[in-house]
Amino acid sequence: MPIDPTQPYDESNIFARILRGEIPSQRVYEDEHALAFHDISPLSPTHILVIPKGPYVSWDDFSANASDREIAGFIRAVGKVARDQGLVEQGYRALANVGLNSGQEVPHLHVHIFGGRPLGPMLA
Ligand code: IMP
Repeated sequence: MPIDPTQPYDESNIFARILRGEIPSQRVYEDEHALAFHDISPLSPTHILVIPKGPYVSWDDFSANASDREIAGFIRAVGKVARDQGLVEQGYRALANVGLNSGQEVPHLHVHIFGGRPLGPMLA
């Protein structure tokens, strides 16, 4: 079910639980600002989710309310994960679903990194 992007942060959401180590994930990167792990239902040969460590429901919440330091750290982590995965030469897509129309399902900001095959045109 798509989430309501205006809801307050829910500490029991699945990515909060992954951050706390309560449920397992296939981690590929972690630093002060971000955690990255493989999507459980990959849509491309490489499909990684990068999440900020702070409690932000969505890209909207994060871009409005996170500190400049958190934002810079998170964006750098997204780029580093893609580079470390060897995706830059062939290209990749970084995408964040926001709110009801996008179908966002997990109420903790996550940027999808898709790569490993030609991704085709953007579908909007
Ligand atoms: P959204 O539709 O942008 O919210 O994407 C949520 C993503 O989280 C989907 O691609 C799911 O496959 C993924 N996902 C849901 N639960 C887990 C999990 O426990 N581990 C890793 N990925 C998950």
